[in-house]
Amino acid sequence: MSKKIGFIGLGIMGKPMARNLLKAGYTLNVYSRSQPPMEELKRDGATLGASPKEVAAASEVVITMLPNSPDVEAVVLGANGVLEGTKSGTILADMSTISPLVSQKIYEAAKKKGVKALDAPVSGGEKGAIEGILSIMVGGDSEVYEAAVPIFQVMGKTITYMGPAGAGGFTKLANQVIVAINLTAIGEALTLGAKAGLDPQRLIQALSGGMAGSRCLDMKGPQITKGNFQPGFTVDLHYKDLGLIMEAARALQVPLPTTAVVQELFSALRVKGRGALDHSAVITLLEDLAGAKARTKS
Ligand code: NAD
Repeated sequence: MSKKIGFIGLGIMGKPMARNLLKAGYTLNVYSRSQPPMEELKRDGATLGASPKEVAAASEVVITMLPNSPDVEAVVLGANGVLEGTKSGTILADMSTISPLVSQKIYEAAKKKGVKALDAPVSGGEKGAIEGILSIMVGGDSEVYEAAVPIFQVMGKTITYMGPAGAGGFTKLANQVIVAINLTAIGEALTLGAKAGLDPQRLIQALSGGMAGSRCLDMKGPQITKGNFQPGFTVDLHYKDLGLIMEAARALQVPLPTTAVVQELFSALRVKGRGALDHSAVITLLEDLAGAKARTKS
């Protein structure tokens, strides 16, 4: 597999993912909108590109890790974008969470230039990115997926081929339905416990050993009881995903009534000025309603 990788988008997720590729011995050309993470990656051994086009021209595989669909469209299809710089045969793996319909559009545009596009969104959060243990769900042509697996294995532990272009994105949206509803359920349960006078830490301990246990409860429960809502994954980004989910659900004629309610709760969090908090902060709205807080007394 090729050694020259271009990495575009060095945020909470992209920076540690790029670092892991450097550590694994790949040659990295990077570009991001803000300068500080570029400088950090330069110190780690990456070469800085002046534009997505320049990064793409120097790479055999290009990875994008950007906030949303318009960002990926601009970086890949726009002026000075990836497709202006790529050679035929380049693999383009977009690992952002975006609309699967946009992923399909990018796949078609790339194909016209002989570029092989994969949609490969991830789950596992910042911790999973740092430790290289993300779950990566991939859509696109199966032989392209096979060629990219060694690179995905540097960043993730569970790598799953889901089907044609867009299939990775639909899988990620299904993932985000479960996470958003689960965090809201945890918020309701812990708030109920708080009002009943239960110790939140013991409540989490009791719940996590039974049917109510989940990765969300294990990862977020202890943070919630400390009142630590530093992201992680922001309310704003999960609200973006809830919009993508409802858009896809309407296109496919799938009613998602519970997700729709949770989307409104996330909207309310943003109205309250809590969009930059971790998505587990959905509990704060429920606590406001109940007049009780699920915090461990220190
Ligand atoms: P982030 O906002 O921290 O990082 C995005 C990066 O992209 C920033 O460095 C920004 O400067 C850069 N960027 C934005 N527009 C750009 C442009 N036009 N050109 C170049 N760079 C540009 O976001 P993140 O948390 O790293 O998330 C990235 C993607 O991964 C999102 O789609 C998100 O939904 C998804 N995701 C995030 C997490 C998480 O826990 N944070 C987990 C799974 C998936």
